[in-house]
Amino acid sequence: MKLQLSPEDAAFREEMRTFFTTQVPQTTRDIVAARRELSKELIVQTQQILNGAGLAVPNWPVEWGGRDWTPLQRHIWHEEMQLASVPLPLAFNASMVGPVIAAFGSQAIKERFLAKTANLDIWWSQGFSEPEAGSDLASLRTTAIREGDEYVVNGQKAWTTLGQYGDWIFCLVRTNPEAPKRQQGISFLLIDMTSPGLTVRPIELIDGGYEVNEVFFDNVRVPIENLVGEENHGWDYAKFLLGNERVGVAPVGSTKRLLAQAKTYAQSAGSGGTSLLDDPLVAAHITELENELLALELTALRVVANSAGGKPHPASSVLKLRGTELQQAVTELIVDLAGPASLASGAGPDSDLPDWTKVATPQFLNYRKASIYGGSNEVQRTIVAGTILGL
Ligand SMILES: Cc1cc2nc3c(=O)[nH]c(=O)nc-3n(C[C@H](O)[C@H](O)[C@H](O)COP(=O)(O)OP(=O)(O)OC[C@H]3O[C@@H](n4cnc5c(N)ncnc54)[C@H](O)[C@@H]3O)c2cc1C
Repeated sequence: MKLQLSPEDAAFREEMRTFFTTQVPQTTRDIVAARRELSKELIVQTQQILNGAGLAVPNWPVEWGGRDWTPLQRHIWHEEMQLASVPLPLAFNASMVGPVIAAFGSQAIKERFLAKTANLDIWWSQGFSEPEAGSDLASLRTTAIREGDEYVVNGQKAWTTLGQYGDWIFCLVRTNPEAPKRQQGISFLLIDMTSPGLTVRPIELIDGGYEVNEVFFDNVRVPIENLVGEENHGWDYAKFLLGNERVGVAPVGSTKRLLAQAKTYAQSAGSGGTSLLDDPLVAAHITELENELLALELTALRVVANSAGGKPHPASSVLKLRGTELQQAVTELIVDLAGPASLASGAGPDSDLPDWTKVATPQFLNYRKASIYGGSNEVQRTIVAGTILGL
């Protein structure tokens, strides 16, 4: 089955594809395709190339660098970036804090932060989760108590992705510990990560990498002008942000690319001159995943078509759920294709095992995260049950 685009949208797709495959360096895209870790410098460089062409933050209001595109064009932009192995604009900047500041921030805060956020001159971290507040985010305990023209922040955030690169962190903090409902006493505060009293401590993940951190606040003093919107209204802004986050984590394009790569791996992975693609069980499994992915893409297009006024459709939970399940299924398929070689993640550069087999297991393990972040998949099922199935 082939999806038919209008001539205008087909031309738009071609324009995006040409830009991504000619303007973003091949060396950077090769690292993404090989599923190797990108340096901070390459992530920043890519976002600046995209931003220079107006392609970093199309979802923002036009006056702050956004584009007046249709939802379908935004979808095509996102998918083509992934298909071309382009590192995506940093989600903390482009999909999270930027849209919140643009929608709820004062003019002064917009002028201070938005252009630098789009261009990744400021690297943002997300300070929402805490050790006792993940799915149940409203039970967060980090406090920000007003003293004159400052808030004094105390507490701890957890799982702060790439916090080691962060210049600033946007935090949910409790400004009114006495509020009658837990959601009412929360504010959205921007904190300079070089502030005295703020400490970032890395957490080693199951794949041996360090992509998440704990962040501690010990009497960190934050000027009151760093508050976004109104004091004690942070929960509303957080809900707005999390809705955007969920849509962004359905990686249809990159899973399609990975599955296509898996087929080339299968071709090279047979023994005695045969291709694993000739194995009926392998072929059936790949076909099944391709069909599932096509169904997901159609659902994504349906969500795009029905998202009105910038509000995510409730089915965005289905996208998050199914998108991450398929992402994990493809990483598992690649481990299966690598077979015993998938145990060789520690093999050095002199090993003659293909690179894809060496990253297969660490990547499989790393992507267990996808069903946890952005609202765990169990929580998404509850949302689907309530908002779509009416249960
Ligand atoms: C790799 C990674 C990166 C992350 N990056 C960030 C970041 O940059 N910034 C940030 O703020 N946070 C980040 N997070 C945190 C993430 O948002 C939380 O892990 C997530 O919200 C789940 O919270 P938790 O880990 O406390 O688990 P819990 O909420 O304690 O959940 C534990 C288990 O119980 C299940 N569960 C919980 N409540 C329910 C329920 N009501 N119904 C059914 N099942 C339920 C969950 O699905 C899960 O399986 C990251 C997490 C990971 C894994």
